[in-house]
Amino acid sequence: MIKGFFNVPVAVNEPVLSYAPGSAERAELRETLREMRSREVELPMIIGGKEVRSGKLERMHPPHDIKHTLGYYHQGDASHVRMAIDAALAARSKWASLSWEHRASVFLKAADLLAGPYRAKLNAATMLGQSKNAYQAEIDAACELADFFRFGVREMTRIYAMQPESARGIWNYNEFRPLEGFIYALTPFNFTSIAGNLPAAPALMGNVVVWKPSKTAVYSAGVIMEIFREAGVPDGVINLVFVSGPVGAQTVMDHPEFAGIHFTGSTGVFQSVWKKIGENIYKYKSYPRIVGETGGKDFIFADATADKQALAIAMVRGAFEYQGQKCSAASRAYVPASIWPEIREILGRELATVKMGPPEDFTNFFNAVIDESSFDKLAGFIDRARTDKDADVIFGGHCDKSVGYFIEPTVIQAYDPKYITMEEELFGPVLTVYVYNDEEMDATLDILDQTSMYALTGAIFSQDRYNIEKFTRKLENAAGNFYINDKPTGAVVGQQPFGGARGSGTNDKAGSVFNLLRWVNIRTIKENFNPPHRYTYPNFAPDKE
Ligand code: NAD
Repeated sequence: MIKGFFNVPVAVNEPVLSYAPGSAERAELRETLREMRSREVELPMIIGGKEVRSGKLERMHPPHDIKHTLGYYHQGDASHVRMAIDAALAARSKWASLSWEHRASVFLKAADLLAGPYRAKLNAATMLGQSKNAYQAEIDAACELADFFRFGVREMTRIYAMQPESARGIWNYNEFRPLEGFIYALTPFNFTSIAGNLPAAPALMGNVVVWKPSKTAVYSAGVIMEIFREAGVPDGVINLVFVSGPVGAQTVMDHPEFAGIHFTGSTGVFQSVWKKIGENIYKYKSYPRIVGETGGKDFIFADATADKQALAIAMVRGAFEYQGQKCSAASRAYVPASIWPEIREILGRELATVKMGPPEDFTNFFNAVIDESSFDKLAGFIDRARTDKDADVIFGGHCDKSVGYFIEPTVIQAYDPKYITMEEELFGPVLTVYVYNDEEMDATLDILDQTSMYALTGAIFSQDRYNIEKFTRKLENAAGNFYINDKPTGAVVGQQPFGGARGSGTNDKAGSVFNLLRWVNIRTIKENFNPPHRYTYPNFAPDKE
């Protein structure tokens, strides 16, 4: 074994490429998109390092071009989940005892593969499979996932360095053991980086994982798995299964060696999973770690001193990038009446220039929503706002699913601050604005704080330092990520550790030391260099005469 205390390479955020006309990356991505569109793939599950085919094929298509076939994946059932659990448990002992620097090497290599030879492929898969434009794919699939791997390695070493004091004659130390059993990574459709990080983070800390991606993100999950394998993640350490949510949860959570879940997705699913774990608690060898980042009803609150142009742009970018399908997307805004006419005008002017269409055309800012059920749900809320007396659709609202699931960027004005679209997560390109009377600013802050069950992200816009402090204090529990004069989206690994409280999750801050700590079980070891040879202490000796 190599002997020494090693420094890992300094983690820096992966530079975001511009994809500007004439750039090499633009040409490469275009060519990769063309190539990937021109052939149909067949994706097997990967269990114990083997390709597993169920024969039950499910079709994959771009959300923006539903007639086009990207390929098929093999849909599994409970038997495949059990196979994946067995493969993970079989790989556990070897992986858990591998020296940490070799685990680090695997994920550092994964970062370099991703940032280099796989960059265009993973970006293209995300663009085609999840309808993301080139820039949104780049910041997610390429940069954020590479950041998760590199900063994960750095944070792991910071954890290993957390050691107790040792008094004279003894030596104390902490050993950060992987959990006993296997971890279930249950991942959402909207961020390729999250899909990759949820299995990778526990594996980095020495755990073995069963990974179930969202059925609408299987296409990019297949590429992530290719990267894991090429980087040298050993067979059985991360097992990829394509099964329905309930089948996966039922099979995993019945198993005595289920040791934890790393989840990102909707609040309802997370609560149902937590309930199932509670019901089965007597079955498990240890208490499963439950880590879940869930929904949001993210806000922008402005006062009359706000920089109006910056506020309106934050509303457009914050609410409509990736069609509002970011957990952090601004979906409710509170604007004072004194500046609303100007904000409304800028909003209207900017939104009129937004180009909607397939991401393969790089000039499109705006693409399709993920699937038909999301489309129908959003169209329903928009229709309802058209007829409700408490709301008006003031921009956008057009929905068309003839070619793909296209919904225009939509702004609803609500006349009741508790109108349904001010309260519920819609997860799409719909921003609801409530215009408040300037003199009711404080009361409106209270309303904001009490309107929704979520507390994920929020932004305030003001140039008044007293107000900035006041808003920051009053909204202390309204968001896990809080932005001052900035949009509430776009958290960067290593810079703004991400996660929310209240109904939005356990707030373990993905990519940070706080998250990685959840995937280890600490053993504290004490060695005594001079153990006592008598059971009594000096005070038991009789007084001297
Ligand atoms: P989702 O909850 O529908 O799905 C997440 C995963 O759970 C998928 O793999 C899905 O197949 C599975 N699943 C679905 N129903 C299940 C069930 N009954 N039992 C067990 N598993 C089940 O979420 P989504 O639509 O993929 O993603 C969007 C949601 O994720 C939004 O609510 C968004 O706010 C949230 N999100 C949160 C964060 C965050 O960091 N807080 C980040 C991204 C997304």
